[in-house]
Amino acid sequence: MSDEIISERLWTGDYYNEGTGRSDIFDTLKEECGVFGVFGHPEAASLSYYGLHALQHRGEESAGICVSNGEEFNYHRGMGLVKEVFDRDKLMSLRGERSIGHVRYSTSGDSRLTNAQPLVFKYRDGDLAVATNGNIVNAPQIRRELEQSGSIFQTTSDTEVIAHLIARSPKDFVEAAKDALQRLVGGFAFLLMTNDKLIVASDPNGLRPLTMAKLGDAYLFSSETCAFEVVGAQSIRDILPGELLVLDGNGLHEDRYTAPQRKALCAMEYIYFSRPDSDLNGSNLHAARKRMGQMMAQESFVDADVVTGVPDSSISAAIGYAEQTGIPYELGLIKNKYTGRTFIQPSQELREQGVKMKLSAVRRVVEGKRVVMIDDSIVRGTTSRRIVNLLRDAGATEVHVRITSPPFKNPCFYGIDTPDRAELIASYKTIDEIRREINADSLEFLSPEGLIQAVGGDNASDYKGGLCMACFDNDYPTRTSFEGEEKFGCSC
Ligand code: SF4
Repeated sequence: MSDEIISERLWTGDYYNEGTGRSDIFDTLKEECGVFGVFGHPEAASLSYYGLHALQHRGEESAGICVSNGEEFNYHRGMGLVKEVFDRDKLMSLRGERSIGHVRYSTSGDSRLTNAQPLVFKYRDGDLAVATNGNIVNAPQIRRELEQSGSIFQTTSDTEVIAHLIARSPKDFVEAAKDALQRLVGGFAFLLMTNDKLIVASDPNGLRPLTMAKLGDAYLFSSETCAFEVVGAQSIRDILPGELLVLDGNGLHEDRYTAPQRKALCAMEYIYFSRPDSDLNGSNLHAARKRMGQMMAQESFVDADVVTGVPDSSISAAIGYAEQTGIPYELGLIKNKYTGRTFIQPSQELREQGVKMKLSAVRRVVEGKRVVMIDDSIVRGTTSRRIVNLLRDAGATEVHVRITSPPFKNPCFYGIDTPDRAELIASYKTIDEIRREINADSLEFLSPEGLIQAVGGDNASDYKGGLCMACFDNDYPTRTSFEGEEKFGCSC
């Protein structure tokens, strides 16, 4: 890829938007979405607000909350961050004891308000609201079938297919939801709400995280446990693959809509996406990332003066690498989180300068030093090269790059926005060629075995440690193509 093309991408209108995600200037992967549900609490909307705020890193494009008081829905959705979409008056208008909420980042549906979730529908049995995280691989096929038999879709979001499948079923809501979920292939976590019920469901492989907590008598559901901490709820457990929970006036009913298949929770949740204060499958993310750094040190030690991590997601791993090797950990790179919003188009000469508005090397830390730079992944290679060059410009004498994941070679079908395979540098270059491309003195990746061992957790003894590693090894846990249609990105 030429520098021209790379530079063009840097200076889109989103470049300086605070709130367009960690990926705005970097070619790193983009998060999917986050969901948060409440059943049985008079402050359901406020809890959802705080929960979604804690999940903001999973989607910064739009936010929404739908509340049921048992008779009718009240909802509000908007483009932007949770704090921008909701104010006190809007939250006060959302009265009810059950709610579902959503933060969205999307690639497959358009970026517009009609696709913001929760999606809300009227159907023959009343109101239906849907919030999801993930991607339905066979959604285009189902959508085409439904359209051919008369369905009219309101959105371009794939999530709408489940609402149509439920609405067209002659069965009651729970049975209709089970039938609908059985038709879906992909990685998804669903919250489905009617006036009197909340259904919580996970895909048969448990690809996307979904977890449950209690707050007094209320049940809470979230993509990550960090959202429970914020509202003082007690984590109970993760939702199991193929599981379906029904909450209504009779309380919580544990059920399933299909048999569980190979457990395959997204490995990138551990490596990059989830917050370090979240727990997944019995593993704390900060601790797991530290172990990744320790494993990396055991597999690929290099003598150096300082270890630094690319903020924010690689700091835990850098601490682990430093602890294991005895090389001091230093803050060699600082992220500026307050770049704010500007649409000033810079001159060509200032374009390279742009990266420094987001990330700075600390000259006094790295000058004259041999630096080990820990990062979580290499996608196209452009980001890594820029960061290595930042360190060199600040006086680092050597830069050794250690990546706490195996080489990222394959696209994701389950809700992570990845470029085409042809743009993934590890799919067409050797490790030494990548090293030269990113201008590093040495480059090593964590082995798949090292990653599985570092993640540990409740599924450590399962096949591949209960992880999906398809973007590294091409071993997808589901079918990925239907009638020749391959679909990438996030449909939520
Ligand atoms: S393919 Fe990669 S990014 Fe996608 S779910 Fe699997 S591990 Fe996660």
